[in-house]
Amino acid sequence: MLTPDAIKGKASELGFDLCGIASAEAFPELSFLEEWLQRGYAGQMAWMSRTRERRADVRNVVPGARSVIVTGTLYNTNRPYGDEQPSDVARLSRYAWGDDYHHVIKSRLDDLLEWMHTTSDRPFEGRAYVDTGPVQERVYAQYAGLGWIGKNTCLINREVGSWLFLGEIICTLPLAPDEQGLEQCGSCTRCLEACPTGALVEPAVLDSNRCLSYLTIELRSSIPEEHRSSMGGHVYGCDICQEVCPYNQPAPSSSDAPWQPRAGLDLPRLVDLWRVPDADLRALLKGSAMTRAKLVGLRRNLAVAIGNEGDPDSLAALQEPAADRPSISDPLVQEHITWAMEQARKT
Ligand code: SF4
Ligand code: SF4
Repeated sequence: MLTPDAIKGKASELGFDLCGIASAEAFPELSFLEEWLQRGYAGQMAWMSRTRERRADVRNVVPGARSVIVTGTLYNTNRPYGDEQPSDVARLSRYAWGDDYHHVIKSRLDDLLEWMHTTSDRPFEGRAYVDTGPVQERVYAQYAGLGWIGKNTCLINREVGSWLFLGEIICTLPLAPDEQGLEQCGSCTRCLEACPTGALVEPAVLDSNRCLSYLTIELRSSIPEEHRSSMGGHVYGCDICQEVCPYNQPAPSSSDAPWQPRAGLDLPRLVDLWRVPDADLRALLKGSAMTRAKLVGLRRNLAVAIGNEGDPDSLAALQEPAADRPSISDPLVQEHITWAMEQARKT
């Protein structure tokens, strides 16, 4: 019989660390998206605006939906946080070190959904999503009892922290919901204070235009000069507001094979990553979550990070002839190399 406990048991068997159930309602927190978009905090992410109506309520995604089964998967691995890494290391968000979570988690959710269909004594509609779907999954995760939305905007679980991939199955089955997760940030403001660009403009309100995750991944154009120095060694994403969170001190590590760092992405030196030929870089990133920034975007970010590092040998590498790295010739990359060299002259 398809009970909530049976679903959670199967989810655990399939490798999910957390699983809870929320009812498919228009919870009050969902309505803030409209104001957030109107404030311009989505930056160039036009797809957020295009899907605003669907994001307002999961019943716009699956008509007749009654329940949202939310899963959490720990991806933290046994590597030091950024402030304990050598200064010449390329800062890559830890979620991107291994295989692309979209594919891995979606495949596990599809297995769970298929099992639900074969186990249920009545037919139902269900759809699985991981991150890319038009769903405000952190709100449903909170109502499914997985944790609370912290002031850093991440879903935090008291026991395992916030290094979690979320996924969900929206379905027409009326399942008993879990108790809502309660806010436990209290008076802490560590993430707000640690953000290098002031992107957390209020508790749990992110201005993407200032966030290094947005600037290094989603932004396709030139990085605004005012934020380049604040990037430090960040090349793909930013983990600072999670690294400082007391609920991640320490966070448990996962031994799940897909999240273990790939050899070339395991704390690589900036200059070493810069020197990887385009063809090898493409091969290294294939099937990882790091393809989103594209090769030119990565080169752009690496140039800024090397400019911030200020090491003469790394700076010289920016100007080496590189027939095997045609992406460097892109005008966007060249503009950021010029900025990096100017930084070095100023210091
Ligand atoms: S990811 Fe980095 S830049 Fe973005 S809000 Fe967190 S600390 Fe700030
Ligand atoms: S650092 Fe503090 S305020 Fe920020 S999310 Fe963690 S507990 Fe909440």
